[in-house]
Amino acid sequence: MERVLIHIHGIVQGVGFRPFIHKQVLHYALAGSIKNTSSGVELELEGERPELERFLADLPVKAPKLAVIERVEAEFSNELKHFRDFQILSSRTEAQRNTLISPDIGICEDCLRELRDPSDRRYRYPFINCTNCGPRFTIIKDVPYDRAKTSMSVFPMCPDCDREYHDIENRRYHAQPDCCPVCGPHVFYLDAEGRETEGDAIENARRALKEGKIVAIKGLGGMHLACRCDDPAVARTLRRRKQRDEKPFAVMCRDADCAKKICFVSPEEEKLLGSFRRPIVLLEKRGAALDHLSENGFVGVMLPYTPLHYLVFGDDIDMLVMTSANLSDTPIMYRNAEALEKLSGIADGFLLHDRDIQTRCDDSLCFALDGGEYFLRRSRGYVPFPVSVHEDAGMTLACGAEQKASFCLSKERYVFPSQHIGDLKNIETFENYALQIRHFERLFDVRPALLACDLHPDYLSTTYAAERAEDEGLPLVRVQHHHAHMAACMADNALSGEVVGLVWDGTGYGTDGTSWGGECLVGGYADFRRLGSLLPIPLIGGDAVTKEPLRVAYALLRAAGERTDGIADAAVYEKILQSGLNCPLSTGMGRLFDGVSALLGVKERCSYEGQGAVLLEAAAMADEGRFPVSFSEEGELARFDWREMICEIVRQQKAGTERGALAARFMNTLVDMAVRQCLRAREISGLERVVLSGGSFQNRYLMRRLPAALEKEGFAVYRHRRVSPNDEGLSLGQILIANHQKPSP
Ligand code: ZN
Ligand code: ZN
Ligand code: FE
Repeated sequence: MERVLIHIHGIVQGVGFRPFIHKQVLHYALAGSIKNTSSGVELELEGERPELERFLADLPVKAPKLAVIERVEAEFSNELKHFRDFQILSSRTEAQRNTLISPDIGICEDCLRELRDPSDRRYRYPFINCTNCGPRFTIIKDVPYDRAKTSMSVFPMCPDCDREYHDIENRRYHAQPDCCPVCGPHVFYLDAEGRETEGDAIENARRALKEGKIVAIKGLGGMHLACRCDDPAVARTLRRRKQRDEKPFAVMCRDADCAKKICFVSPEEEKLLGSFRRPIVLLEKRGAALDHLSENGFVGVMLPYTPLHYLVFGDDIDMLVMTSANLSDTPIMYRNAEALEKLSGIADGFLLHDRDIQTRCDDSLCFALDGGEYFLRRSRGYVPFPVSVHEDAGMTLACGAEQKASFCLSKERYVFPSQHIGDLKNIETFENYALQIRHFERLFDVRPALLACDLHPDYLSTTYAAERAEDEGLPLVRVQHHHAHMAACMADNALSGEVVGLVWDGTGYGTDGTSWGGECLVGGYADFRRLGSLLPIPLIGGDAVTKEPLRVAYALLRAAGERTDGIADAAVYEKILQSGLNCPLSTGMGRLFDGVSALLGVKERCSYEGQGAVLLEAAAMADEGRFPVSFSEEGELARFDWREMICEIVRQQKAGTERGALAARFMNTLVDMAVRQCLRAREISGLERVVLSGGSFQNRYLMRRLPAALEKEGFAVYRHRRVSPNDEGLSLGQILIANHQKPSP
């Protein structure tokens, strides 16, 4: 017999971890105790050495799927305490109520089997779920999490469900949303006028979809609009009715094999698609069949995640457009009445049900990178699960940015990032933002003692933070945008100390009041210095440039001394440029991408932010060419002088070089430029770790090349893993910075 003291670090509370441990302890005939600690759990066990070792080996393999085991420390000893049984000890942290709330989980294999089994009492029941799957976050009204505090409170359990719920051997033991056709919610199908239809709701919806109609379908965190994928006319109708410009539509495929018919799917992408979190995964299209859904080389694909989705697909629908039901920039619709009212004239039918959605939660969006997900949007399936941080972050609320708004709430070593919120300039989106902040504070029992926001004085998130700081008498730390990005990537990788930060995005308020976005910083959470940037670009007409990148192209050509007579509105642009009015300067990498994409004729007018950059990436061919890189130094700040590059692009374009080759050479040049900036930063600071953050690093071409190029020079390169590189992920950095910069009491 031996005794072992085990510390398990990570996210192991409130995820069914203790019942799991209990089962394992019984299985290996061990005895001892378990208690929660601030960083995980502590176990003390006694038993035969081989049994103890097998118990340890099982931990990472058999742990509940939501558990995140970061580290296990085991210390063996011969001094026995002669435990007789297994005890769950209460601890200090327990009293503080540290219960995590599960994200919504895609239907599991067991439930799917029952759904398809004619002899099962839940055969074809659209709300089948169990302890391992089903709705969670989106149906919770309040804590502690039990049925009475969810949307299921209006559906009292029937005796059969109640028996399952109380049977420890049953796989629905303590499954709060458990229900069946006798006691649970039901679906119904309404026509375009909102009248309930005769017959089977799901069959009616399937028929409408097959006929080319647009059907609103209630999902987990909101409504989708669904229609056939294979008919460009149907997609056009949906675009017109939804007033959705050129943004790509996501597709839901019946299974991975269906996805393979339209996309290339690697084994790691297949794994992501089928994960219980069921994100939308960006996949490379096969051929041009889906060009009417996505104009670039990729399409977002997800697999069904609710039993209702599976029933809609049946075994004869392969894929459907599945796009969030919202109008322009408003939040996703989630209430039946709201959908019927606002989608009238858009949807030809409504597949709804009477289980209310409490909290909006959009689909998550990512692509596969080195075997894991690389987020463009971290939302359903992940939220409200925390990311752990390597230092105590107190109780802090970080208010994020504005256009891709998010917030983070910290509780010591846990940080809870919000779901996708959207653009705060929309009033309903802003209201939802404020509502979600309060909801998170209640769910996780956090009263912020410290606030953080962006340095931008006009962001609505800044206004929100300033008002709360004033009302509640709390300290507020205003964090420079790119410093926050850098810190977010540091925290994402549990880095402390100082690093080199390459932060590339569209725009962010600089400490000098101008717009930044192609930055090379050095520093840590407490402070930073700006060592690299771009030669500023005058934005002709200010914000107008994001829709009209030709304006940027004009500014680039003029600065480079090139001819501009090919540009239609040249005279107008010149006038604005000369007047200097409404021509703010920007060092935004996104703007350089816009300008070059317009120059190459990839995209002259954009209907959404970043479109030029996305299409430029899509246009790039395999080409190893590059343009010259030069810098102009202002003290310790080295600015990438892109003028020579612009001249060279113009020259090669005239010589007939293909656009795809020029697009590749442009991005290769940026890689060279970044490496040179980092080498210079290393010379000045001695730092060898580089973090990559900012929306420009959603570019796959850069992400495939830049880390390798930096590693070749001996740098250790870190990119985002748990939150998005774009503005949505930045509130994580604000949390850490605020804790380092907070005024001393
Ligand atoms: Zn299940
Ligand atoms: Zn029941
Ligand atoms: Fe940003």
